[in-house]
Amino acid sequence: MEPSIIDTHAHLNDMADLANVLARAKAAGIRAIVAVGVNHDSDKKTLEIVSRFNNPEIYPPIYPAIGLHPGDINTSEPEGLFDFIEENIDKIVAIGESGLDYWYKEARKDGPARELQGRVFAKQVDIAKRHDKPIVIHSRGAWKECLKKTKEAGIKRAVFHWYSGPEDVLREILAEGYFMSAAPSCEYSPEHRKAIETAPLERMLLETDSPVVYKPASGRYKSEPKDVARVLKEVAKIKNVPEEEVAVMTTRNAGAFFNLS
Ligand SMILES: [Zn+2]
Repeated sequence: MEPSIIDTHAHLNDMADLANVLARAKAAGIRAIVAVGVNHDSDKKTLEIVSRFNNPEIYPPIYPAIGLHPGDINTSEPEGLFDFIEENIDKIVAIGESGLDYWYKEARKDGPARELQGRVFAKQVDIAKRHDKPIVIHSRGAWKECLKKTKEAGIKRAVFHWYSGPEDVLREILAEGYFMSAAPSCEYSPEHRKAIETAPLERMLLETDSPVVYKPASGRYKSEPKDVARVLKEVAKIKNVPEEEVAVMTTRNAGAFFNLS
């Protein structure tokens, strides 16, 4: 029997052949999936997917998170989307994918792009705070700034997804009681492996960010939720603990973090 694990970050609306993808996840022992939207269109589709594939006999239970990703600000009309998030607040387990990304060309320096990202993120942090929802944070190149905004808003539950930033900021994130999540790049990314070494299992979630294409030495592949089992294996190796221990702990973490029933 495979250990029971949860993929806490998958973009199901970006996947072809979803019925088979989900059936494969079920067959691989994936216990649940958190489906994450990034803009108005994908948020709507994510909610539709949750109702359409609601069949625990053949698919893992799917829990939705909706938000506006910093890379998608221009594809959505933010105000309408914020209303949409609030209208659907009782259906979702988290706000996100939200955050800041200072690696985008237009956001490499202080200026209007960073300001806009900051306003859009602050708005979602505020929704999370008012409704006591956790927030799923994309923080590439803006790790410190994401932490600052989240902390200052008094957010209790935040996950810094696929964390690959500096160790000192990670230590502050952990000290604040926040989580990081381990993604399939842990098979080869030195920054991400370092973060997994630093974070205790008590503060870790597992995810795929599927359908991201990963490039381990064993060969590139397009990820899907079943590949969270690869993350489990690699995290167990990095932490030098049995897979079962990683599975039990991270599944318990995900249940408490997202308040899964
Ligand atoms: Zn993502």
